[in-house]
Amino acid sequence: MEAAFYPGSFDPITYGHLNIIERAQTIFSRITVLVAVNTFKKPLFSPQENVEMIRQTTRRWSRVEVDFTEGLLIEYARENNIRTAVRGLRAVTDFENEFSMALTNRNMWSEFDTVFLMTSSEYMYLSSSVVRQIAQMGGEVGQFVPACVEQKLKEKFG
Ligand code: ADP
Repeated sequence: MEAAFYPGSFDPITYGHLNIIERAQTIFSRITVLVAVNTFKKPLFSPQENVEMIRQTTRRWSRVEVDFTEGLLIEYARENNIRTAVRGLRAVTDFENEFSMALTNRNMWSEFDTVFLMTSSEYMYLSSSVVRQIAQMGGEVGQFVPACVEQKLKEKFG
């Protein structure tokens, strides 16, 4: 079993992400959840805040680590000698983007591969952007995110 990393924005982490992490840590020897700063998206939380929320909510899994990068994923992978990325797939709409990202990464490093885990059906329509929108409008997000994340969202929009 190799080590793998799970890159994403995680802005903020949701039960959908946590479901993927829980399953991935039974497959791989180590999972590094990597908060990747996406220059095309304007984040709600800083990378440090997102890292901290992920640390708090993944503490029970000893094989899970958390890190962040402002650079290219593939550079992080090379530097840390991790050849596998895990990504989650929700609807067909995720496919096109994920497919091109996986191929681009493998073009940059031929030994690199991306492994996809299908979402659990209850999280099919759950995304960080939906959570941000609901929280911004003062809605209840307790069924989508852990309590510490709900609290941070309240502080942000309160
Ligand atoms: P988003 O901003 O679209 O929520 P992220 O960049 O934070 O996505 O997501 C990182 C990875 O987690 C992506 O592969 C994404 O498809 C996956 N993911 C996000 N939400 C879910 C979910 N509810 N179920 C399964 N995978 C998910």
